[in-house]
Formats: sequence, C-alpha cells, structure tokens
Amino acid sequence: MKTIIYTCPYVPAEWIAAHGLRPSRIIPDAAGTTSQAGRTEGLCPFVQGFINEVMADKKAGGIVITTVCDQMRRVYDILLRRCDVPLFLMNVPNTWQNVAVQKLYIDELKRLGRFLIDLGGKSPSDDALAKIMLDYDTARTSILTAGGYLPARQYAETIAAFGRDAPGETLNNITVPELQIEGVPLAILGGPLMRQDFDIFDIVAQAGGHIVLDATETGQRGLCAPFDRLGLRDKPLLELASAYFCGIQDASRRPNSGLYKWLKCRLADTAVRGIIFHRYVWCDMWHAELQRLKDWTDLPVLDIDTAGNNQTAKQRTTNRIRAFLETLQ
Ligand code: SF4
Repeated sequence: MKTIIYTCPYVPAEWIAAHGLRPSRIIPDAAGTTSQAGRTEGLCPFVQGFINEVMADKKAGGIVITTVCDQMRRVYDILLRRCDVPLFLMNVPNTWQNVAVQKLYIDELKRLGRFLIDLGGKSPSDDALAKIMLDYDTARTSILTAGGYLPARQYAETIAAFGRDAPGETLNNITVPELQIEGVPLAILGGPLMRQDFDIFDIVAQAGGHIVLDATETGQRGLCAPFDRLGLRDKPLLELASAYFCGIQDASRRPNSGLYKWLKCRLADTAVRGIIFHRYVWCDMWHAELQRLKDWTDLPVLDIDTAGNNQTAKQRTTNRIRAFLETLQ
C-alpha cells in the first residue's frame, strides 16, 4: 500500500485512507533543519525540516502540500525541482465565511481524490468513507479523553502518532499513569512543533508546570471537529469537509476570530494561569499574532521564538520557561 505524506492539518487522513492508501502526517525532526540535503535560505525551520524529511523518505508514494502560508506554498516549487515523488498542491482558502470557498475546499478534495486514483487508489463509496470516518472519529475522541490524564509530552506524542499511523495502532499504545499530574497549569499556543520541540513539555514539567492545553498546530488544535453522525451517514464527504475546513481554527484564517473563540472555550474548561506562545523566526504569520494575543488575554504570555535545533537556543528557552514559572508559583 502506497504511503501519502503531508503535514498540514487541513488534509483529511480519512479521505486518503478511503482511497485505499496510507496517510501519514509528518512532524519533522528539528535536527533535519541543519542538514544540507534540501537547504534553502529564508525558510522557517519547520518548512526546512519538512523539506529535508520528505527528501530523505524513500517510501513515500505521494506528497500533499497545502497553500495555508506562503512558505508552505514555496515547498511545492522547491520539491518540484528536487524530488521525484508525485506532488499535489492543495488549495486551502484562507477565507472561510461563504459557501463559495467551502465549495472550493470540497472541489479540492475531489481533485485530490483524482490524484490518489492516479497513484493506484480506488474511488471510495459513501459507505466506505463513512466507515473510515467513524474509525478515525472514535480514535480522536479516545485521545482527547485520555488527554486529561496523560503527561503533556505523552499526549502530544499520541496525537503525533495518530497522524503518522493508523488509529488502531495509536490507541493500543495509550497508557494512563496512576498518579495525578501536578504543576502550574499552562497552555502552549502557536504553529506546528517539530519533534525536538516536544522537549518543551519536559522543560515545563521540570520547572514545576504542566501544559494542560496544547493549542499548537501539531497538538489538540490541529484535530478536526467531531463528526455529526447523521451528516456522516447521509453525506460523508460534506461532513468531512465541514469538520476539517470549518472545524480547525488557525492564525492563517481570514478573519481568524475563530481561533480566539476556540481558545476562549478551551481556557474556560481549564485553570490555565499562563500561556507559552511558541513561534519560529521567519514565521510572520504567528509573529503578528503575538501582540493580538497579549491584547486579548489577561493571562501572562511568554514569547518563545526559536530558530530550530541549537543547544544555545534550548538553554535560552529553558531559562525563560523557568523564570516564567517562578513568577507564577
Ligand atoms: S510555522 Fe509559520 S511559516 Fe512555518 S509553516 Fe507554519 S505558518 Fe508557515
């Protein structure tokens, strides 16, 4: 079975799986950003890591890239010149409020379907798609439920494994610790994390905190909305598009008020006392969101900007998180 790799949360794994191919969402390793294989100047470390990871992957049968930000769009042009694996550039509109753009997203899913069929996939029946959606939805619900009991790093790794592997494999590996996790409750907000960035969860725990809300793109915020069971039965593709396109809130949306609405609901469910704002240098989109977040919330915000894998940067992040938690304890 061919593996189709991607990283953007707006690519529905269910749609790829329903075509009989294996979806795998990649979270690059920061170490890859120092590799020279696909080195390109001026890219955010996440995009650079993604390019290197994709170019090193010898098993991928196809790659899906989206247009959510300019740098990701550039990945397509770079890979077109440097990589032999079939590529698909999926248009994900930044505006979302009218029916025309929602229809455009559905048309893009249909175009993606034709790409998958060209790669050897099969056009799915509504029943087949609905069954796969149900499996994924059940797994997502279990992961979100377990999230309240898991250490923050384990929760982030479980979500990452869910994107990378099949839902069944992920659920078999969830083990909930017996002791309740303690520490100053914090949220982390920002774009995607690289695998190396997961160390932040440990740094926070060692400094006396606990991340109870992972609102990064690779965390809980990157999971689509739950499926409506009636919609899933009657019009599964419409329901899939709605849960992803309207259900995932991101800084790239225009307007992105939904991101703050989503955040407000999640913060109300927790006792968060501070927010770690994580962004990469060269990411203008999330940088622009920092001041808006500070104006929007009464909670203290710690800005962590990072350029990738670098021991000095890690020590700087550690010191800043420790100091932040000292002020909250
Ligand atoms: S971190 Fe920023 S620049 Fe990088 S891919 Fe995400 S949105 Fe684009």
